[in-house]
Amino acid sequence: MNRLNKIAIIGGGITGMAAAYYAKQAGAHVTLYEASNRIGGKIKTVYRDGFVLECGPDGYMARKPTLTELITELGLDDDLVRSMTGTSYIYVRQQLRQMPDGSVMGIPTKFWPMVKTDLFTWRGKLRAGMDLVLPRVYTGTDISLDKFFRTRLGSEVVDAMIEPLLSGIYNGTLDDMSIESTFPQFITIEQKTRSLILGMKALTPPVQAGVKPRESGKFLSLRQGLGVLIEALRPSIDRLYTETKVASVRSHEVTLANGMTESFDGIILATSPDMLGPILGLPEAETLSELKRTSSITVLAAFDEKDVAALDGTGYVIAKAEGNALTACSWMHKKWPHMAPENKALLRVYIGSAFVPDLLTQSDDAIAEFALRELRKIQHVGTPIFTKVERHIDTMPQYEVGHKQYVRAFEEQLSTLDGVEACGAILHGVGLPDCVDSAKQAVSRVMARQAASV
Ligand SMILES: Cc1cc2nc3c(=O)[nH]c(=O)nc-3n(C[C@H](O)[C@H](O)[C@H](O)COP(=O)(O)OP(=O)(O)OC[C@H]3O[C@@H](n4cnc5c(N)ncnc54)[C@H](O)[C@@H]3O)c2cc1C
Repeated sequence: MNRLNKIAIIGGGITGMAAAYYAKQAGAHVTLYEASNRIGGKIKTVYRDGFVLECGPDGYMARKPTLTELITELGLDDDLVRSMTGTSYIYVRQQLRQMPDGSVMGIPTKFWPMVKTDLFTWRGKLRAGMDLVLPRVYTGTDISLDKFFRTRLGSEVVDAMIEPLLSGIYNGTLDDMSIESTFPQFITIEQKTRSLILGMKALTPPVQAGVKPRESGKFLSLRQGLGVLIEALRPSIDRLYTETKVASVRSHEVTLANGMTESFDGIILATSPDMLGPILGLPEAETLSELKRTSSITVLAAFDEKDVAALDGTGYVIAKAEGNALTACSWMHKKWPHMAPENKALLRVYIGSAFVPDLLTQSDDAIAEFALRELRKIQHVGTPIFTKVERHIDTMPQYEVGHKQYVRAFEEQLSTLDGVEACGAILHGVGLPDCVDSAKQAVSRVMARQAASV
């Protein structure tokens, strides 16, 4: 074994597993430490009665290429499936209402559907139209998504459409979320066209007469679930230690919670954000660990299809003002037909962070009952065949205003620590492709630093 290529990876989620793959490809001998008893981190696929149950992420954005490239390199590209689309709904004013045709990420781009929709009052519609004449809101300093959208489009469009759609992606609230770190594309659009409505419209390809709109969606997944990806990455690891918590990392040195120490040529941190501070002992890492994270509980419920209200589409989001404990409901069997056997339905509901603390001490059965009660306020469902509850406690990093500065300060500090790199959802994006991207870059930095030091 080439002594120069001894690499340690801390954390066995998608970030750590991808880092293991890229390090192995670069010729390294890879050791991976994982604190829990399984690899995969937030990715967890379970099979039951012919259903493919995703307990964490269920797919990823197709337009971000790195993960698809990785899947292709692993020879899994034949198993890629694309999400289905259909009518999008929002539960607002105690009713499921269709999103106006032409809305992109909650931003209206078509005139007549916006005029005809019953989602907003006339006042709200006119206020949204002011976007066409208002000056730019972003002036070079980070602001919250809430401030940006409320100023451009007014409160009605934000509360009924944008907030439920965008906040769900980060399980956060728009007034916390940094525009620079979460959706910088809106800054680019505003800089270019000033009006968001005109900018989003320009980005939407025109529908040609007689051509059916695409039925396939923007997300990709794997036919047998994302757990398959984790298993395909496993052979990249030469030494895998599960139930092995890393206590600290210093230059070229890993110390385990049991006190054992080992030296490596390169170390890549891919843990959850809360551990960066304790492991590195750097003030900038402590800052990242202390940044806000949110919790959610997801409940998967399997049904006979006849027991679920039949609607076209793949699910809906729920406006906050409705006071429902759920933030969204995905009709997984429609979004991802491979996830349910024929004539069966699979629903996944998300319980919002405000309701999580009260539920934490309750049993899975009690949580599932609660979720079904909330769900039945919105749509008809019968008795489920089974339910599966998953608690995601403190797991979702919130990219608050100023996030980029914290990350920059951390990365500058870390670059002074020889042989140590970090990657993962706290840094440059929470999506699976972002995590894989950051793993790939961390590996190339570690390899470049090693090569330079030889
Ligand atoms: C409910 C939910 C749904 C989501 N849905 C999607 C989706 O559909 N699409 C999408 O793109 N993204 C989605 N995301 C986001 C995405 O899943 C995560 O950002 C991503 O999986 C994070 O991967 P990671 O490897 O960085 O972290 P993790 O998966 O959290 O892995 C970190 C690992 O480090 C280990 N660890 C921690 N401390 C130590 C230590 N001291 N020593 C050793 N090991 C340690 C942990 O046990 C864990 O296994 C979702 C997130 C959640 C919570």
